[in-house]
Amino acid sequence: MNLLTNPQNYEICFTICSLMVLFVTVFVHATEEHYYSRQNDIFGGLVFNAILMNVLGLVHKVWIQSDFVRNSISYQAVCVLGMLEKACIYVMPLLSMLYCMAIFHIEPSTIWKKAILFLPTVYSLMVVFSVIFTDYFYYFDQNADTKYRYFQGATVNVNVWLYLVFAAYLIFRYLKTLSSEKTIALVIYFFLMAAGIPIRILTKSSSIFEFSVSIALLLCVYTFQNPGEFVDRTSGAGTKKALDFTISTYLLQKKSFTILGIYIDKLDVILSEETAETASELLRQIADYLRKMCTDGSLFYSSDSTFALVIPNVRPEDVIIEKTTDQIKKRFKDSWNLRNTEIKLFQSPCAIGFPDEVDSLERFNEVRTVMKKALLRHNRDVLRIADLNLKYVEHDKKIDGIVKRALEDGLLDVYYQPIYSPSEGKYTSCEALVRLKDPKLGFISPAAFMPVAEKNGTVLDIDRFVLDSVCEMISTTGITDYGVEYVEVNLSIVDCIQANMADNVLNTLKKYNVQAKNINLEITETWEKDITEVMDTNIGRLIRAGISFSMDDFGTGYSNLSRIALLPLKLFKLDKSIVQSAFESETSYMVMINLIKIIKSLGKEIVAEGVETAEQAGQVIRLGCDHIQGFFYARPMTKEHFIEFIKEHNS
Ligand code: C2E
Ligand code: CA
Ligand code: CA
Repeated sequence: MNLLTNPQNYEICFTICSLMVLFVTVFVHATEEHYYSRQNDIFGGLVFNAILMNVLGLVHKVWIQSDFVRNSISYQAVCVLGMLEKACIYVMPLLSMLYCMAIFHIEPSTIWKKAILFLPTVYSLMVVFSVIFTDYFYYFDQNADTKYRYFQGATVNVNVWLYLVFAAYLIFRYLKTLSSEKTIALVIYFFLMAAGIPIRILTKSSSIFEFSVSIALLLCVYTFQNPGEFVDRTSGAGTKKALDFTISTYLLQKKSFTILGIYIDKLDVILSEETAETASELLRQIADYLRKMCTDGSLFYSSDSTFALVIPNVRPEDVIIEKTTDQIKKRFKDSWNLRNTEIKLFQSPCAIGFPDEVDSLERFNEVRTVMKKALLRHNRDVLRIADLNLKYVEHDKKIDGIVKRALEDGLLDVYYQPIYSPSEGKYTSCEALVRLKDPKLGFISPAAFMPVAEKNGTVLDIDRFVLDSVCEMISTTGITDYGVEYVEVNLSIVDCIQANMADNVLNTLKKYNVQAKNINLEITETWEKDITEVMDTNIGRLIRAGISFSMDDFGTGYSNLSRIALLPLKLFKLDKSIVQSAFESETSYMVMINLIKIIKSLGKEIVAEGVETAEQAGQVIRLGCDHIQGFFYARPMTKEHFIEFIKEHNS
């Protein structure tokens, strides 16, 4: 105990702390699952080397302080331990370098490159072991402490700096593929290594260096070794994120490779019907089998029924792809054993060649969506890019350009569709609908461009433009004096998840001096937990400010009625597909009646959308709909027409 409490012995305490940090690292590393095999092996080596370095250092330090240990270990033996400790220290930069390279999937391609990589360490080790024959570089004093002979002894540090320069180059070069916290972790890691040298020289103590190495390794275990992010826990394969990372680093290194995708028909449905345990067991069986098919174990599962095998240095047309898919096909002819049942699965393969067919991650994500749709229809040979109809992708890209230009050039317009209220016998509201007129292509329907605008984010600008135009219309035309109580404005889900959404809306109202009760915002159903939370906060704020809300397209989603009932909504808009099909079959008619009953029982108002005929209008009025919107009453029209229309019909 005296050994530890004596302030003279802080070095020993430091080493013990450092060992404790390392044990935590080992514990975390050993109990979690791993994905990248080479990276893991090297990480294991790093931790082992660090522990060895600390233990050797500890023995040496205790030997100096404690007579008991001094009597049981000879001077020669402790010098050998000191020499080995040094060897560990100088192997550290090499291992760190290899680790960094493994992270970026870099392997020295020729024996010469490998030799150059190892050379500085070989030199250091020669210096370290030279003490056996000569004290030219350094020697041990009577305390078995190292005494370097400057300048020749210090040359060993040069190797560390060479590795650091190389590491800095790699980090700089592949920065793009890493998240910011990982970049920081890697920079700190090598910074701690770099700082270790001057500290060791200045303090003449290695324990600070050892401690910083331990901290650096702990940092890695939570970033690069972080299994949650890279390993799919149910299947043990890499995640989508890991796949994206692998693709982008390979592409940056200009490597050629093929991704072999194995789509398993309805796997997600099958899994959702099983217990979590059984599902995981099935996924594991498949993953274990497929992993054997890829040379370096790069298997990924992206929870959309697709496994991806990354096969380096291979083109999709190479024989190996054919052989592999044949083998997989054979395996899938047999069933998979789960507890007492046998499950038969059907798979269809596809192969994408990088960088010939696909040369960016962005393009890959575009292609995989189309690929997946095509795979649903296809299960014979290997599906290739050339078989795909990439029209969707091209189409989306074209629309994307048009929408962006329309925003810049002011080609958007807002139309208004009057909404009739039978009980009052006049038009008490209207819906604002955006219109895009391209100079070359003419009118483009919002149904075509809004989904693209939601994907590329321009929907935020579009909806802001619409709300701005609506507020301007209300404040300049005095439309509310003619019986139009409020204007319904569509909000996209993308709007609803913006933290500043409520502020933006309220600021626009303030800018035009429009009252909150004159605006009604339409939202659609969504069931993703994260989204609904932000959405509820936004809606709450706006409702307190006096704005009302409607549930748009009601009856088309998989509504969770108990949640909907809790939302503070004023209106439910019965989707036009419900209204129109109600007049085509009895079942649909019953669906509509029941939906109306539900809304009524919640005490909310109903808008029937898409009413096109007098018969439909008569029927929905009888069933108790409070408002009617549809071509039978009025089509969406320009602002000027709308004002005229209201003045004519509402007076
Ligand atoms: P929605 O919100 O359901 O809008 C109603 C759509 O039904 C409009 O189509 C309207 O023209 C159409 N409609 C109205 N009465 C009838 C009828 O009797 N029969 C038929 N067949 N259709 C009728 P539109 O203007 O093409 O808009 C399509 C969708 O685009 C809208 O569906 C809405 O989801 C979206 N959208 C339109 N403007 C905006 C906007 O400013 N912001 C956002 N986020 N989405 C918008
Ligand atoms: Ca709407
Ligand atoms: Ca609607």
